Amino acid sequence: MKKTGTGEDSWEQLCEKCGLCCFEKIEDESGAIFFTSTPCRYLDVVTRECRIYHRRFAIFPECVRLTEELVRELTWLHDDCGYRKALGLTRKR
Ligand code: SF4
Repeated sequence: MKKTGTGEDSWEQLCEKCGLCCFEKIEDESGAIFFTSTPCRYLDVVTRECRIYHRRFAIFPECVRLTEELVRELTWLHDDCGYRKALGLTRKR
């Protein structure tokens, strides 16, 4: 029998590992979000994977745990984020 993942596992599998959420962002006074080319110090920019993924909250408490509620609220996740797409969230362009 094929082993199925936990709810948390299947949620995390929605991430497409683009790594874009791990780059610094700037918000201007109008609320527009601009992605910079500065990655989190723990992002492997070649594989686009976090180098400390399983210990990230212990090592880097500023890292954001993306829950469904948070994905719905955050203004800085781009529309092609796997979580946003899975929840059917898009912005007017
Ligand atoms: S932006 Fe979304 S899909 Fe891309 S790495 Fe971050 S959580 Fe995963």
